[in-house]
Amino acid sequence: MTFDELTVNLAALTAMLGERSLALAIADDQLRVQWLCDPMHLTDATGAASAGQSLLDIAPELMGYERALDDLLTGRGGEVEIPLFSRETGTEETRYLRLLVRPWPALAANLGHTNSHGDWPASPGVQPDAVRPPGVILFLEDITPIGELQQRLMQSRNELSLQTDALNRANNELAAANQELSKLADVRSTFVSMAAHELRTPLAVMRGYADMLLDETLGALNDAQRESLETLRHGGDRLLGIVNNLLDLTRLETGRMELVLHALDLGDLARAIAREFRPLLEAKQQNLAVAVAPDLPAALCDETRVFQILSNLLSNASKYTPAGGRIDLSVGLADTADELLVVVRDTGVGIPADQQDQLGTLFFRARTANRVDARGVGLGLYITRSLVQLHGGRLWWESQEGQGSTFCVTFLQADAPDQ
Ligand code: ADP
Repeated sequence: MTFDELTVNLAALTAMLGERSLALAIADDQLRVQWLCDPMHLTDATGAASAGQSLLDIAPELMGYERALDDLLTGRGGEVEIPLFSRETGTEETRYLRLLVRPWPALAANLGHTNSHGDWPASPGVQPDAVRPPGVILFLEDITPIGELQQRLMQSRNELSLQTDALNRANNELAAANQELSKLADVRSTFVSMAAHELRTPLAVMRGYADMLLDETLGALNDAQRESLETLRHGGDRLLGIVNNLLDLTRLETGRMELVLHALDLGDLARAIAREFRPLLEAKQQNLAVAVAPDLPAALCDETRVFQILSNLLSNASKYTPAGGRIDLSVGLADTADELLVVVRDTGVGIPADQQDQLGTLFFRARTANRVDARGVGLGLYITRSLVQLHGGRLWWESQEGQGSTFCVTFLQADAPDQ
């Protein structure tokens, strides 16, 4: 090969290295650079200036790898690789590089690109030795796109891990707060339940005495005494109702409300409730009509609780309907298969459209409740709905302010296929 040919080959090699963003350096057994081709300026050195320089000067990242390099030179190690590191360029850009050092045992013989002396062309100023001792070859590759990607990936991973940490912390705090809350809820339930039990007994005794006095077992009453006693009994009934509702509430909240389910004739039950309510309704000049569809199948219910559900609805219908109004109670088959439908309709004050969604939530009372003299605490409907749901049924309502309300309840048929 002539020197001209070598020049062409070197130019081709330089172009190829440039195309692949690679730099090559060959160093001797003292790690002195013998030859450097760095068309992309991946190192600070130039070919000429690098001659005789330490390999560690043009690749300072190799510091700390001296032992491994020594192993390479003595044939004990395969290669040294630094897969990714960064370097600042003169223009303050960051370049990401990969570095690989391999042994270079027979320097001249392994290369096709030899000069006329059969030797690897030295950088200007370096005299090629006739027989080179073994050395190393260094590959420096510009992998900036990959490096930037990895960097971004690492950043995203770090951010993700920070966010995960924050989320875990928030979750732990939430779990602790929930635990505290549930402890407080337990304390509250226990307190309400105990207080309600304690209140119930003396209330029942007071009511019993009021009944006895009203029966005139202990002597005749004058009109004023009777009226006072009736007020006392009425107040006692109201208090007992609230206490019982509080007890039911704690039972529902703590999952201790248990149903005793039987096949029940809802028509009979509706008539029985109507009988019980009639005196109260007559006192308000309210007219109650009961309609029961013929040949209804039995419903699967807890009798006491269905009584409570329908009583609540009838009591509300009466409470929120002015004197002289009308109440309809009907029992029939629901449109859906396997269900019975009970409807309580009144001609009362109704519920404002914008508040209908809130109805049935704990302690909620609609604006229209004040239009009639009806006291309450907003517990009844919540308990009613919970009891209906415990039965596997549904409760819903339709109402128009000033026109009246309709409350509908479904119960499952006792002989439905999936019972
Ligand atoms: P309370 O009657 O003790 O206030 P409820 O839970 O039974 O509690 O009812 C909640 C609210 O729903 C009532 O305060 C009232 O505003 C409204 N409501 C219930 N039933 C009727 C009805 N039939 N007509 C009009 N409003 C009703």
